[in-house]
Amino acid sequence: MSKTGVLEKGSKYIMNTYNSFPIVLKKGKGVYVWDEDGKKYMDFVAGIAVNVLGYGDEKYIEAIKDQLEKIHHCSNLYITEPVVSLAETLVENSSFDKVFFCNSGTEAMEAAIKLSRKYAYKNKGEGASEIISMKNSFHGRTLGALTTTGQEKYQKGFGPLIPGIKYAIYNDFASIEELVNENTCGIILEVVQGEGGVNPAKKEYLEKVRKLCTEKDIVLIFDEVQTGVGRTGKLFAHEIYGISPDVMALAKGLGGGVPIGAMMAKEKFALAFSPGDHASTFGGNPMATTAAGHIVDRLLNDGVLKNAEESGKYLRKKLEELKDKYGFIKDVRGLGLMQGIEVDINTGDIIKNAMANGLLLVGAGASVIRFVPPLIVTKEEIDEMIEILEKALDISKN
Ligand SMILES: *Cc1c(COP(=O)(O)O)cnc(C)c1O
Repeated sequence: MSKTGVLEKGSKYIMNTYNSFPIVLKKGKGVYVWDEDGKKYMDFVAGIAVNVLGYGDEKYIEAIKDQLEKIHHCSNLYITEPVVSLAETLVENSSFDKVFFCNSGTEAMEAAIKLSRKYAYKNKGEGASEIISMKNSFHGRTLGALTTTGQEKYQKGFGPLIPGIKYAIYNDFASIEELVNENTCGIILEVVQGEGGVNPAKKEYLEKVRKLCTEKDIVLIFDEVQTGVGRTGKLFAHEIYGISPDVMALAKGLGGGVPIGAMMAKEKFALAFSPGDHASTFGGNPMATTAAGHIVDRLLNDGVLKNAEESGKYLRKKLEELKDKYGFIKDVRGLGLMQGIEVDINTGDIIKNAMANGLLLVGAGASVIRFVPPLIVTKEEIDEMIEILEKALDISKN
């Protein structure tokens, strides 16, 4: 099919939920992708913080292929080795005791919402179903996760949303205290707000929320869908703060591009679910858990996590240098390989001009450009990205 054919059929047959760019991606290798016209791009979007190993990683492909030839799916009526190994690795390398597998970030959040309600139902009684989430957050598109997403632009037209959700201000502990009562069952927050504009949590804020939740037996849920699995230079972003939640949601990077999500919980909270309480046909599928098992193994045992940490520091330094050079860059923020620059010129122009010059970027919120490259990105590749970015910034500022 020709490039225009693909684009035309795309708009004819696919439901109109995304403003896709007018290019057709064809293949990738490492941090690079090529489109149908043979144009090469550096990819600092990485499937929106998903492609941990970039593209075409031979060992990753081989691991998935091997599993496909053995058994690719069997439902949770039967158990397989890949799902058990992945669960063991995640538990043994975290502060959690149990894991539930699903297929996406929004599903991991639904599972977390349900678990917190069931826990409170058993421990506090029927009315204790209120959840506090943060304004400017993003937790997904299904109705529960959408309700906890504290941004009206995503919710408009989809009401009635689920009852019992209240919104506090991110990084403002007093605003949480005002909303907490004896019916609060959970508090949900991102360690770094991703879609909301790459806003890291303050340590003191997380410490206070942790203390409050412990005192009042409120389930503390961290949405690490974007920040988890090495993105910030640690396996999970909350490790940087030395604060662990009761429940955590994962997805994006977990499978390196094969769809998989997970909810992890400490024993006491995990016990709230009994057989029949929650389920997923695809969740923990042997193909997806093989992919995720390979990703986590490469992070921990093949230097990928260490690379993410070092390259993250380097990227930050390079972006700070740009801030000194370009007055319209107002802020640089983020953790590890999840960085953002806040600008007071049009972000759409920067993204468009970067693309024309061979660099894929994605926005976050209204005024932030996000950098979430594959975790294998090298310093040389970051230098190359900065060069292209500067070209795009020079064009965009005019
Ligand atoms: C992307 C994202 C989600 C939703 O994940 P999906 O896989 O798109 O459902 C939830 N929370 C955060 C923090 C995210 O970045």
